[in-house]
Amino acid sequence: MSMHQHYTGLIERYRARLPISESARVISLGEGNTPLIELQNIPKLIGKDVTIYVKYEGLNPTGSFKDRGMTMAVTKAVEDGSHAIICASTGNTSAAAAAYAVRAGIKAFVLIPEGKIALGKLAQTLMYGAQIIQINGNFDRGMALVKEIVDHAPVTIVNSINPFRIEGQKTAAFEIIDALGDAPDYHCLPVGNAGNITAYWQGYKEYSSTIDALPQVTAKRPVMCGYQAAGAAPFIAGKMIDNPETVATAIRIGHPQSWDFAWNAQRESNGWFDSLTDEEILAAQKLLSGHEGIFCEPASAASLAGALRDIGTGKIPEGSKIVCTLTGNGLKDPDTAIEQCKNTHPVTIAATLDAVKKAILDTL
Ligand SMILES: *Cc1c(COP(=O)(O)O)cnc(C)c1O
Repeated sequence: MSMHQHYTGLIERYRARLPISESARVISLGEGNTPLIELQNIPKLIGKDVTIYVKYEGLNPTGSFKDRGMTMAVTKAVEDGSHAIICASTGNTSAAAAAYAVRAGIKAFVLIPEGKIALGKLAQTLMYGAQIIQINGNFDRGMALVKEIVDHAPVTIVNSINPFRIEGQKTAAFEIIDALGDAPDYHCLPVGNAGNITAYWQGYKEYSSTIDALPQVTAKRPVMCGYQAAGAAPFIAGKMIDNPETVATAIRIGHPQSWDFAWNAQRESNGWFDSLTDEEILAAQKLLSGHEGIFCEPASAASLAGALRDIGTGKIPEGSKIVCTLTGNGLKDPDTAIEQCKNTHPVTIAATLDAVKKAILDTL
């Protein structure tokens, strides 16, 4: 990219690899191009010779990777003449749908489970002006309703069953190959509906099979590792589950929509699925913020929690290059963050130079 060109978004950057017509009006907020950050302190802390990168998707315009899919889904919806989009959501999809809809000048309807949306996601969706429909039911119920409603109302589904969502999200794998010069050995992801693990695998396969376009890229592909919350782990159970529960609300899903695609990614990559307790997920979230200065939301930390466990047991061997996707920003869920730090009491002192000096010198 030349110095005089400013970054406009992933559709412009990877247009040749996306099903976008020349004349399409691109609905973009400058998504993608997120940092791939090498962890410096955690590998030392665990005493293992591994290289761990985090793909910090929390720096997308609405704070999660959902923006990658949404720029494509909304661009396509507008091109097809749609005036309204709809999704079921655990929060981040609704925030992204709302933002891209208002950008496009169309209406967004979002079905969310009452009381189970993290505060930041609700605040965003309200501010972007989407029509919020709360249901007395979980995400899976909302998803079933959204699939039915399209036969009764003129709305376009923008959940990850919309194939353009996956097309947009696959660009994260392109960016990783562009940054590293090759695919990593292992790619670790949190898994809910399994759209994202599907998209990354598609992206890795597509990019590594077009070596002409990118001579430096080999046919290397990563082992895909999908991690779920123990209370919401249909891929570990081997079947759909009905009452998923986890503090990581973004992956509180019992009926994943990309079930077959995700199993295919696991098989083709010789990867695996595993689950983590809420305690393990929260510990990884705090480890990352407290030792690297990177704040992700709980669901995102499942990728690192899983990677660290599998590095610890040797399932991921020393010498490996690992990428963990941090799917969403820590600011999305301030309630869980503050709850995690409830034993950290800020000191309150007199507003004098002496008192401030004492407070500093006492802790140095
Ligand atoms: C949507 C989401 C996930 C799960 O992604 P899937 O594609 O549903 O597997 C994980 N983390 C966060 C923060 C999300 O918003």
